[in-house]
Amino acid sequence: MLKGKVALVTGSTSGIGLAMARALAAKGADIMLNGFGDEGEIEAIRAGIADEFGIGAAYNAADMSSGEECAGLVRAARAELGDCDILVNNAGIQHTAPIEEFPVERWEAIIAINLSQSFHTIRAALPGMYEKGWGRIVNIASVHGRVASVNKAAYVAAKHGLVGLTKVVALEAAGRGVTCNAICPGWVLTPLIQAQVDLRATEKGLTQEEAKADLLAEKQPSKQFATTEQVGGLAAFLCSPAADQITGQELGIDGGWTAQ
Ligand code: NAD
Repeated sequence: MLKGKVALVTGSTSGIGLAMARALAAKGADIMLNGFGDEGEIEAIRAGIADEFGIGAAYNAADMSSGEECAGLVRAARAELGDCDILVNNAGIQHTAPIEEFPVERWEAIIAINLSQSFHTIRAALPGMYEKGWGRIVNIASVHGRVASVNKAAYVAAKHGLVGLTKVVALEAAGRGVTCNAICPGWVLTPLIQAQVDLRATEKGLTQEEAKADLLAEKQPSKQFATTEQVGGLAAFLCSPAADQITGQELGIDGGWTAQ
């Protein structure tokens, strides 16, 4: 389905980003990986995806907190694999604290990575998509792009902003073969959420299993984590012809969180 297409997935060395890279590779897209981690492990991921799915895969270590490096990543994908047909803005970080104690440096880093990243990559990638008359932009927002929780000022502000940016890009690109949507997951058990499970276990004196159940019970009616593969499946669907007219949407995978 995506043979001959180039997909750039930011923050794809771990968690949801890696699952989306795998889901798009499984449909035949060549993949530009990005993110931090151990050099040897990243090379094993890159070579493994290329080998398993018979596609081209490259890696670039650009830091998504820098606008310059975001644009540079789009250029690197073009140089190594070709113009970017599918752009998945996924790299993200979290920090939790009450606003009066929220470190200013964490606020700025979260806004840069979780929001401004997408402005810079989309700005760099859209002209190539317009030229081809086809493109898919998938922004990984969050349930926190739709509703708020305490102690997440920067994350909630960034993700709400990302949903807004998604809608603007969808309108500007409408009728030009380019769609732009936001995926809004609830709890997905990745290293990012494991840190919140660990914190809860320590603060409340719970076992890991109890802390996970406690976290889910508070917000996610299904009481089950969504899986990275399910998010990857939705990203792949958004790149299929069935999704040609789906644009400007905030698509939840949240076990009913936002239905409450
Ligand atoms: P993760 O920590 O497993 O993965 C984050 C990825 O981003 C990693 O590859 C990391 O190396 C990369 N990254 C971090 N900072 C970067 C930077 N400055 N430049 C380049 N890469 C960077 O987290 P995850 O849970 O897979 O999160 C992925 C996205 O999904 C994030 O945007 C997150 O906000 C969103 N999300 C996650 C959940 C969840 O429950 N896990 C829910 C909703 C939304």
